[in-house]
Amino acid sequence: MARVLVIVPAAGVGSRFGGDIPKQFQPLAGKPILQHVVERFILHEDVQRVMVAVSEQLVAVVSQGAGERVRFTAGGDSRQASVINALRAAGPEFDLVAVHDAVRPFFADATFRAALNAASEFGAALPGVRVADTIHTVRDDVVDLTLDRNAFILAQTPQCFRYDVLRDVLARAEREGDQGTDEAGLAAKYGVKVRVIPGDSMNFKITRPDDLAMAEAIYAKWGES
Ligand code: C5P
Repeated sequence: MARVLVIVPAAGVGSRFGGDIPKQFQPLAGKPILQHVVERFILHEDVQRVMVAVSEQLVAVVSQGAGERVRFTAGGDSRQASVINALRAAGPEFDLVAVHDAVRPFFADATFRAALNAASEFGAALPGVRVADTIHTVRDDVVDLTLDRNAFILAQTPQCFRYDVLRDVLARAEREGDQGTDEAGLAAKYGVKVRVIPGDSMNFKITRPDDLAMAEAIYAKWGES
């Protein structure tokens, strides 16, 4: 059985969401979004540790009452720095690492398993969804170019890596001063073949207040069925 570490970067301030509480701590069906995410991962027996990066002043507060397999550590100035801190804090005794956005509570268990399997076979994998809308570039509010939407995927998480692959990618990014918006992008930049597996539109990122309303509606629907 592979030893799996899950890293959840949750140290962002959620500026697009507005309000006083960062979006990952907003309640969804009565408990913080982050808690939904952590509880979903803990259900997997391969997951030996969930390491959550939160802002430094929250580490002591949120650590209280955390179970044996869940740990909190201080994040950094960027998502990438938070992931690096969490990877270091977790130690080296893992085979696979999954990095998951704190605000995607609806990832499918089958997707997580498929991403882990693909990462163990190929080194790195992420769930991606094809783009339904036409994509234009825009210049000064005027349509400029129309791109081939078949060339794009929307990158979701959990993004999964063999432990050594992610460690080496992040170390190189640190050395070279590269900032990525996700780990898969950095890995691809350094020549790692990142396998794309099917994601799904349910696994959306709660980014704006409207997304939270949609998430509440989904939970209400689940409760009925
Ligand atoms: O801002 P964005 O939605 O891309 O953030 C992605 C994830 O990275 C969020 O879960 C956020 O909390 C986390 N993050 C972090 N440390 C930062 C900035 C963002 O852990 N300094």
